[in-house]
Amino acid sequence: MKIVALAGGVGGAKLVDGLARLLSPDELTVVVNTGDDFNHLGLRICPDLDTVCYTLAGLANPTTGWGRSGETWNALEQLARLGGPTWFRLGDLDLATHLERTRRLKAGDALSRVTRDFCAAWGVRHPVLPMTDQVFETWVLTVEHGWLPFQEYFVRHACEPVVKGFEFRGAESARPAPGVLEAIGAADAVVVCPSNPWVSIDPIFKVEGIKQAIQGCPVRVAVSPIIGGKAVKGPAAKMYAELGIEPSALAVARHYTGRLTGFIFDREDSQYMSDISALGIRAVVLDTLMKTNEDRVNLACKVLDFCALNQTGIRRS
Ligand code: GDP
Repeated sequence: MKIVALAGGVGGAKLVDGLARLLSPDELTVVVNTGDDFNHLGLRICPDLDTVCYTLAGLANPTTGWGRSGETWNALEQLARLGGPTWFRLGDLDLATHLERTRRLKAGDALSRVTRDFCAAWGVRHPVLPMTDQVFETWVLTVEHGWLPFQEYFVRHACEPVVKGFEFRGAESARPAPGVLEAIGAADAVVVCPSNPWVSIDPIFKVEGIKQAIQGCPVRVAVSPIIGGKAVKGPAAKMYAELGIEPSALAVARHYTGRLTGFIFDREDSQYMSDISALGIRAVVLDTLMKTNEDRVNLACKVLDFCALNQTGIRRS
């Protein structure tokens, strides 16, 4: 079965890793949010792309979920000593990625090309595509500070400001990166990973043509990032609450209304089964918390089963 997975950073990367352990590079393409990308210290930083690639390469820091394992912080310490900005933590190993990416982009290479070459260098065999090669910026409207670029909200202000809304600047002119529409067009199923619906998945749908291409795929399945009314990590639940929506698996299913054929949510939230089914989508409860590599593979396996079930009505053996 050919799968396209839509992913943000930490939550998305975990399921993508499970899928990559089960599917060949011909069967899995990952499309990654780039709305979080920004310029910092003169460098182009692509947090979600790097999280997905480091995870697939086995280079990710297992504790944080982002950044590199075995990281050192010499450059950042020296930067602090010089009075430079250190709110966005860049380790020494990670810096090489941003330095070389920035050099390549300045020389005229597209982000998708650079990502492909980095993946080859890291031994990542599954195609990882940025959603777009163009600038596309997620901005967060906050009560305290007005409009903030995403990383200012997320890292500098540690997600503390109260959220009033989002804006995706550049969305009108951004085009899908090479290979994105082709991969979706050839997919048997699109899997929306358990990433933040507001700021990791919605941006991907906002890129001209991607939403329509996904609607053309017969099977479209999402995994809820909200378990027991809480985000496993990050501000997804807080965002729902601040926007006046009770955070829950049901809220996520409603968020994606019209975009999905199937929805996977945690066993802990089984009370929502009838409400979610009433949205006209096939729903299933599973253990969706991925603490170990084994959890990732188990969930990925069940996601594939569910996609097959959506496709044929017959459960895979
Ligand atoms: P970010 O860009 O690094 O914030 O990453 P994502 O948007 O991909 O992931 C954040 C979301 O992943 C949060 O809403 C978490 O609740 C969700 N998440 C993280 N780990 C898990 C997990 O093990 N299971 C599920 N179901 N969701 C998870």
